[in-house]
Amino acid sequence: MVRAVDSDDGADEGPNRGRAALLVVGGAILGATLGFGFGVAFPGGGDAVISRELPDLQAAELPRIAVSDRTGADAPLVVIDPGHGGFDPGASSTDGAREKDIALALATSVRDILLELGGVRVALTRETDRFLPLEERPRLAEALGADAFVSIHADSAPVPEAQGANVYVLSSRASDREAQALARIENESASGIDLPDGADDVAHVLADLMRRETALASVGLAASIDEESAGAMPRHEPFRRSANFVVLRSPELPSVLFEAGYLTNPDDAKRLSDPATRQAVAEALARAILADLLTSQPR
Ligand SMILES: [Zn+2]
Repeated sequence: MVRAVDSDDGADEGPNRGRAALLVVGGAILGATLGFGFGVAFPGGGDAVISRELPDLQAAELPRIAVSDRTGADAPLVVIDPGHGGFDPGASSTDGAREKDIALALATSVRDILLELGGVRVALTRETDRFLPLEERPRLAEALGADAFVSIHADSAPVPEAQGANVYVLSSRASDREAQALARIENESASGIDLPDGADDVAHVLADLMRRETALASVGLAASIDEESAGAMPRHEPFRRSANFVVLRSPELPSVLFEAGYLTNPDDAKRLSDPATRQAVAEALARAILADLLTSQPR
């Protein structure tokens, strides 16, 4: 059984509110805190208490929320996260296409299509070629009160034959060896540091993962992307996978990571570098996000 209780210190106004989650799992009580500038410890939390002190996010640093005249002020909010940026280019193709540029171009197109369709509000974690620490990306989305988080990447593989898109949800245990290797690459390359993936880290991730409704909603979003991407782009099977990605670890925000294709594959690199062929990917993602957010229960 998983029961989750939200509480805070009363500082509920504005985007910088702190969050605390008390998880009751099979009789054991795990206290987990997530704070923007403060932490709360629960009695009984024991050694499972996680406290992460982060600097206060200033309103000026929060991403801009884009709306169109077809979007209500209280419409669901999706935060799209173009992977990498700045000094971190991510993967590259042999002819010089860079993951950070493709991710930003795709994210921008998805936002524009969503605004055109109406019904959801959209923010990007970065709108320019700048570095953003991995941990900060979901925090920005949480601070905005987002309903969904979609991180966009493009993959690399040791062999040029690997081709097609994948969607990932968070899991402490990777669905397969490829997924595990990819999570390691993404976790290291985008943070610039070697993040631990040992037992302690997994225990902490598991405490966060117990937010069952978040995990279920993440799977729902991945299923929607599965449905809309079929026939719209080459896919790497199995399409849906899971691994321990830092950027997907929000306990409260349904999150997926979309790999648009392999830049080490010449066909994928060409397809994702050309705005005309890339548009099909952006359209499928936009349809999937819209379908998911407009049919899910309010969260
Ligand atoms: Zn990446």
